[in-house]
Parts: sequence; structure tokens; C-alpha cells
Amino acid sequence: MTAALIDGKVLAATLRARVTEAVRDLGAQHGLVPGLAVVLVGDNPASEAYVGAKKKMVAESGMRSIDHRLGASTSREALLALIDGLNRDPQVHGILVQLPLPPQIDTGEVIATVDPAKDVDGFHPLNVGRLAIGLPAFAPCTPLGCVTLAKSVHASLAGMDALVIGRSTIVGRPLVQLLLAENATVTIAHSKTRDLRGLSRRADLVFAAIGRPEFVRADWIKPGATVIDIGINRIAREGKRVVVGDVAFAEVSEVAGAITPVPGGVGPMTIACLLANTLRAACTQAGLPAPVL
Ligand code: NAP
Repeated sequence: MTAALIDGKVLAATLRARVTEAVRDLGAQHGLVPGLAVVLVGDNPASEAYVGAKKKMVAESGMRSIDHRLGASTSREALLALIDGLNRDPQVHGILVQLPLPPQIDTGEVIATVDPAKDVDGFHPLNVGRLAIGLPAFAPCTPLGCVTLAKSVHASLAGMDALVIGRSTIVGRPLVQLLLAENATVTIAHSKTRDLRGLSRRADLVFAAIGRPEFVRADWIKPGATVIDIGINRIAREGKRVVVGDVAFAEVSEVAGAITPVPGGVGPMTIACLLANTLRAACTQAGLPAPVL
């Protein structure tokens, strides 16, 4: 391997430590404890695992973790009433509704019901719009983490050619906005893109959010480029279940300048950025300046 490994676990631990310190100061100076409410509907095993990890890290950072677990047959009315209550609760500063939701519930309606000031996932249309026009907004945690990882290699992304592969609302699209805000020159690719390999070979920064195991190959990468792998794919290999990214890690590591592993890259940063967004939400709601992390 010639590429430098971008260690998401270490960078996430550093960010979480800064959040923990800021939470301690907030409590000592203002008697304020940031609270994050996590709403889980149904029994999706992957969602259970994510929610468990989030809850643990929220508690470790000194914030209040408020858990709501609802059955898979929960009605639209019951879920909207719960969110309405959380919107009004002064001890709740951030609200996260774990997706996916069961089919009887309209996800868009639920997201739009969350108070934009408590929308620490950055999915509310108001935050999406604000981000798109360059106003301060809550941005989704995974793309925030991606930018932090890229900036751990390059102090400035200004003028760099960035390729984002994938145009989902939770990763690709907000990532484009965040990279534009960093003054990168951004191309966004998707399943209808022609000559993806050619586009990729020109990029200084490649972000892969596709959901296809080891899709990005070594001959797609400009020597020395920085590669951020967002994919989480569970596959069988040599009779074992393993998690791999959207990038063929072993071969791309021989060409790239820096690369994130899967697991241990973007994943840990996502939760750390959720904590940072919750801290920011609490400060803003209390009329305090958000700490610089
Ligand atoms: P998604 O909603 O399924 O979007 C996938 C995107 O990839 C789509 O825009 C799709 O294009 C594009 N795509 C699919 N096949 C392609 C191809 N052959 N060539 C070029 N583009 C192609 O997925 P997502 O929610 O963004 O997630 C992407 C990956 O990131 C998944 O593995 C997911 O598990 C992972 N993820 C990780 C984290 C984390 O914390 N690390 C968080 C979220 C997601 P079209 O739009 O044309 O269909």
C-alpha cells in the first residue's frame, strides 16, 4: 500500500473529545445539557445497530439521550404527534428519526414535521434549501464527515477537482453543496453518467457513495488522488460475511495518495458530526454562539 490511510476512528475520536469538552463547559457556564431524541420505528436490525451506537456516544459526550422506540405498525398520526411533542420539549435540542420508516408512513411528511432548528440530520427541506443557497444550515452528518476527512489531508480544498459519485439526498447532493462551499470544482456522477472512469481519472478528490461493492477500481484513480469511500456493503467472501466499501481498497491504495478504509473511515465520522450538530443546535436555541470545534 502506498496511499496514506485516513483514519476515521482517530479523527472521529478527536472531534468527539472536542464536543465532550464543549458540553462540559456549557453545563458549567450555563447549566445547559444538550439533548438528542432518537426515534426508531420498527425493528430493522441495521437501524437498531446504528441507534445503539448513537445512543452510547451521545451519553459518553455528556449529552442527554432520549430514546423513543415505536412498533412497526405505528400510525402516521402517532408518529407526527410524538415529533410535535419533541419539537416543543425544551430539553430536546436535536431530533433524529431513524430511516427507513415502515411503508404506511410518508417519510417526507415526517422529515418536514421536525422543527428545522432541531433537524440535526439536515434533512428538512428548509435546511436543504439553505445549504443549497450557501446560508448557514444543518448539513447531513455523513457528507459533513466526508469533508472533514478530506480536509485532514488537504488544509484547503479550494480549486481542487472533486468527483462525487452518487446523487442521493442524504449523501451525494449535500456533499456537492459542502464541497462548493469549500471552493472545490465539483462534478456529480450517477448511474446515467457517461465515461465515469474518465471523469474519475481527472479528479483530485473522489467521493464514492454508490452502494456497489468495490466498484471504483485502481485504473479510475489519478496517481496521488484522495479517495473517500462512503459505501457500506455486506458481502460474502471466503465463506464469511464481510463489510466492504464502494472502492476496491487494496488495488486503489496502490495508486491513491490517501484513502479511507471501510470500516473505520466515514462511518465513525458520521456519528461524531451528529454530536457536533446537536451541540450547535443546543447553543443556537439558547442564544449562545456555537463553539468552534
Ligand atoms: P442510494 O440512495 O442508493 O444512491 C446511490 C447512488 O449511486 C445513486 O445516485 C445512483 O445513481 C448511483 N449509482 C448506482 N449505480 C451506479 C453506477 N453503476 N454508476 C454510477 N452511479 C451509480 O445510496 P446512498 O444512500 O447515497 O448510499 C450510498 C452508499 O453509502 C451505500 O453503500 C450506503 O450504505 C452508504 N452510506 C454510508 C453512510 C456512512 O455513514 N458511512 C451513510 C449513508 C450511506 P442514480 O441516482 O442514477 O440511481
